Amino acid sequence: MQVFKFGGASVKDADSVKNVFSILKKFPNEKILIVVSAMGKMTNKFEELVTAILENDEEKRISILSEIHDYHFEIAFKLFEKSDPTAFDFFNTMWKILIKECNTVKKLPPQIVYDAIVPYGELLSTNLISHYIGKFQNCGFLDASALIKTDDKFKNATVDMKLTEQKILADVLPLFAQSNVVVTQGFIGSTKKNFRTTLGREGSDYTGAIFAYCLNAKSLTIWKDVAGMYNADPRKFPKAQKIDRVSYKDAIELSYYGASVIHPKTIQPLQNKNIPLFVKSFLNPNEKGTVIQKDAQNTLPFYIVKNEQVLVSLSSKDFSFIAERHLSDIFKTFDSLDMKINIMQNSAVNFSALFDAKTFNESIILEKFSNSYQVRYNTHLELITIRQYNQEIIQELTHGKEVMLEQKTRETIRFVVR
Ligand code: ASP
Repeated sequence: MQVFKFGGASVKDADSVKNVFSILKKFPNEKILIVVSAMGKMTNKFEELVTAILENDEEKRISILSEIHDYHFEIAFKLFEKSDPTAFDFFNTMWKILIKECNTVKKLPPQIVYDAIVPYGELLSTNLISHYIGKFQNCGFLDASALIKTDDKFKNATVDMKLTEQKILADVLPLFAQSNVVVTQGFIGSTKKNFRTTLGREGSDYTGAIFAYCLNAKSLTIWKDVAGMYNADPRKFPKAQKIDRVSYKDAIELSYYGASVIHPKTIQPLQNKNIPLFVKSFLNPNEKGTVIQKDAQNTLPFYIVKNEQVLVSLSSKDFSFIAERHLSDIFKTFDSLDMKINIMQNSAVNFSALFDAKTFNESIILEKFSNSYQVRYNTHLELITIRQYNQEIIQELTHGKEVMLEQKTRETIRFVVR
């Protein structure tokens, strides 16, 4: 069995859905579980819908719902014959459930509203796609939220692997007795009490890895709009080169440092069972792409540049040491604000940490820390990470920039610059 993951860009319109089916046809004798994201940029639209619900903005809610409806309906019209009276039943049924849920969730906490509503992006797309494939061959359908069991950290839930494995083994294998293809959603799960949860934005890659792990799949393939993994972002660096093979270790480090090709959590379950991960282009499915597997050697330097970073520095006001207890409080506060530290450094009386600007809110940071610390921050910075570095590449990337912080190990060098 193989697991394929198709992201939003690969199912953004009717032709893309047809392309997914043409890729599946290249594997006529394989059992394939496909994990699918919301179509195109629909998750952003659903996030807007959640905001409208929470703000009680009726007009906005209706207009966003009609945008979402028309987008999917237009795709459905191109995939199914209007003359078939049952063609749209599944779509209409799901739509009614969504409308009802928009009304019932209103009074719940914002995070729960988010996790109740945003997964409809995935649910609508997988319904459409499985019915489309079902026109040509038997196709199973699974609601992943019944299988991926999580804690109740809504919007960024942690998966209970043991329970999830039991559920997946019990529910998925019987479906493969009837069909070669089974369709399910990425990104979504549910708590023990069956409240729907999500695994964090872009979390469908991770769902693919969870299914591959639990089903002991032969491989996981992530189908992207790029030819594979590159040693730098090809949109920013024209000299970037495609990599044929990467080790799990390099891939996990690179995704952690911000290479956006795969979600950082994807590698861990795969490497635990030694399952190779292929990154391939859905536009050129016959090309080799990149394989991520144990012990793959790579000698090219990798470099990742993250823009719009904010460096927050906390200094003790009275020259007292910033010791373990302070650090523990500082980390707890950042965690509670969902601020992910990209790099950090401390000295006797100072602690500095770098964040994506979109997670930084000046007034909240001042409110949380200014009683105990002197707070300073610098905005519009860049974080440069180079793995397998050499002098030439360091010079090229840091030339003409002021280095504000530098960290170096044998394999990786990182700079915060402006
Ligand atoms: N649809 C979700 C998102 O856009 C999950 C995913 O596509 O991986 O973030």
